[in-house]
Order: sequence, then structure tokens, then C-alpha cells
Amino acid sequence: MNIFGPKELMEDVILAGRCTGCGACVDICPYFGSHMGKTAMLFPCTIARGRCFASCPRAEVDLDLLSEKTFGAPYAEVPVGSHRKIFVSRSGARIGNANYQAGGTVSALLSFVLEKGIIDAAVLVDRQEGLPRPRRITEPQEVLSCASSSFAAVPVISELNRAVRDGYRRIGTVATPCQAVAAALIRINPLNEDEFINPLSFIIGLFCTWALDLRSMTALFSGRGLDLRSVIRCDVPPPPAEKFEIVTGGGKHDIPLQEVRDLTSPACAWCPDMTSEFADVSVGMLEGSAGKNILIIRTPFGEEIAEKAREERYIVLDEIPPEQLRNLERAAAAKKRRALLKLKKEGLLNTAGKGKRACFRLRPEILEKLIG
Ligand SMILES: Cc1cc2nc3c(=O)[nH]c(=O)nc-3n(C[C@H](O)[C@H](O)[C@H](O)COP(=O)(O)OP(=O)(O)OC[C@H]3O[C@@H](n4cnc5c(N)ncnc54)[C@H](O)[C@@H]3O)c2cc1C
Repeated sequence: MNIFGPKELMEDVILAGRCTGCGACVDICPYFGSHMGKTAMLFPCTIARGRCFASCPRAEVDLDLLSEKTFGAPYAEVPVGSHRKIFVSRSGARIGNANYQAGGTVSALLSFVLEKGIIDAAVLVDRQEGLPRPRRITEPQEVLSCASSSFAAVPVISELNRAVRDGYRRIGTVATPCQAVAAALIRINPLNEDEFINPLSFIIGLFCTWALDLRSMTALFSGRGLDLRSVIRCDVPPPPAEKFEIVTGGGKHDIPLQEVRDLTSPACAWCPDMTSEFADVSVGMLEGSAGKNILIIRTPFGEEIAEKAREERYIVLDEIPPEQLRNLERAAAAKKRRALLKLKKEGLLNTAGKGKRACFRLRPEILEKLIG
């Protein structure tokens, strides 16, 4: 893997507008900070190779190497990424009701791994004063208070870095696709550090087509006279609804979806991943079924957790209807193609030549199949 330092991270990612605000470079050292979704270098640092660059999901990510180390095979032309099984899922009888975004599968799996002591801390997203913020929890009963989606880019990985610094070594995290890449990069010890211990026991990825820039989201809400602190949940109903639903203490508010898409973090345009391909398991919504999820099982460990959680009635699994699977594959392939074409046009794939750096690297024959 080509690994550089903070200077190259600034040039290739932060100043180039490709930073997703995942927080991977924050809280590993004093040099990078994050505020309202914006990442910045606070003090100069001149090291040639750094963990900040090595764990960035937009800097020299070698998809084949990451895939080899995560799944034992190079990156393939599979729209939803490497996987073992795909189910329709929801939370089971062992889990109470909460403000779940869909079926509550994410909260149920997190409750399971915390209750069984498989992880000793989890990094989730909660709202503080209405603003989505990463939150570290250690007690299973805290999981449900973080249920539901904040459709904004949140620096989740910075809290993961803080948890590692505080001595946690069996951490679980919920992650959007860019955050899942960062977490997977942390896991593979890209700098080959001798004292390295993999701190990530369980990564639950979320499906994600776009995330709102936090500052734009705040402006959107306040422009409509909505107090962020009164937001109970947000939702993107399936097509042809074309609206963004916001439920507050005062009622329901619809915003045309295009207006919201225009406020998407610009970094999302370079993202080829809709289903968090580098997680242990990935969870999204089942189109047209409000109380259900799609669950993609990727690693053997993810499969073991899902099976045990099913046996102990934390989750319920059903077969996925073929039509729903086709829809998922179509949507994932479309996002991948769109981003890869943009990356290729801008010279950010497999970039060659002295001093030239890439955003992603993957085998050219696979790239051609994905964009063909
Ligand atoms: C930015 C974003 C975009 C999404 N886009 C899509 C999409 O295009 N298609 C689709 O099918 N699904 C999408 N999802 C996923 C979907 O909204 C649900 O999170 C998923 O289906 C899990 O549902 P659940 O009922 O199991 O979740 P719950 O049990 O309610 O748990 C949700 C978990 O997500 C965490 N979370 C909330 N906001 C964030 C955030 N911003 N970043 C990281 N973690 C967070 C919470 O801490 C909680 O643990 C998106 C989610 C996010 C955050």
C-alpha cells in the first residue's frame, strides 16, 4: 500500500474537497481536528508516513489488498461487495421497541454483542442539542437510545480512535461506507506496527447513498423554522415519494428530496460503495417495508454473530425476495458505476507516474467490468 503523511492527506483529500468527515485522522494525534463535519489541520506535522493517511478512506485505498486481508480474495465485480448470505431481517422478541430507523436490526445486533461481552464498547451516533454526534457506550441498555438515522456525515472514527486511546481493545462500531473503509484499514495494520492489536471486534455497516454535510443540514432545518432539538426522526421514503420526511415534536414536515440532495456532502460523489462493503455485516432498509431491513453477512465472524443472535431471538431472519435482491444490486451497481466513472475521468484511479497518487486502486479488468 502506498502510504504518505499529513502533507499529502491535506493536498489529496482535505483541500481537494474529498474529505468525508469520517474522523479517521482525528484523535490519533494533536494535529487534526474536526468541527461541524469539517476536518482541518490544527498544527503542522511533517512525518513522511502517518496513520492519518493510512486510514483515510479517500487516500490510496488499495481495494484488492483491503479485500484480500478482510475476505481472503481480491476485490471483485460484485455490486454489493463480498458476502456470504443476504436476508430480510428485523429485531426479535428479546429486544424492546424503540425509535428504530427500520427493523431495528442494527440495535438488536449491538445489544447482543454488548450483552454477551463480545465487545466491551460500541461507537454509535446520538444527538446532542439536536446535532448528530459520535457516542461511545459500554452498557447494552444505552444502545436503544441511539436508534434511528441521522442522515449526516458524522466523525464516528474519531470516537473510535479515542476509545482505542482509552484502552478499549474489543470495540464495535456502526459505520457508513466511508467509515467502514476507514475501520477496515485500521484493522489491517497498514503501517505494520509491531505493537498493533486489532481493536475492532465488530463492524456493522449501513447502506448509504449520500450523507448531508452537517453545516448544510443545520441551515436546511433552521431555514424551515425547524428546531434541530425537536427532531425525533428523519426518513427517505422509497420512490416515487421524492421527499425527505422530518418528524418533530410539532408534527411532520416534508422537504422535496432534490433540495436535500443538493446539500449532500460533495465527498459522496467519489464514493463507489452503497452497502458498506468492508464491514462484518451491512444493514439497510427494505424498500416498501417500513419495519424491515436487508442484512448482508460478509465475514465468517459476522455470520457467527447473526446466527447466534437469531438463535437467541435478538433478530429474525427471512429469505430475501428475488425482486428485492435485484433492486438492491441495481442500486449498488449504479452508485459504483457513477463514482468510478467520475474517479476515472479525474485521473484518481490506479494513478501512475512519479509523485502521482490515487484515490483508489483496483485491478483494471475488474474496473472495466464495473463501469462497462
Ligand atoms: C447517512 C445515512 C444514509 C443512509 N442511506 C441509506 C440508503 O440510501 N439506503 C438504505 O437502505 N439505508 C440507508 N441508510 C441506513 C438506514 O437509514 C438504517 O440505518 C439501516 O437500515 C438500519 O436500520 P435499523 O432499524 O436496523 O437501525 P437502528 O436500529 O435504528 O440503528 C441505527 C444505528 O445507526 C447509527 N447511526 C445513526 N446515524 C448515523 C450516522 N450518520 N453515521 C453512522 N451511524 C449512524 C445509530 O447510532 C444507530 O446505532 C442510511 C443511513 C445513514 C446514517
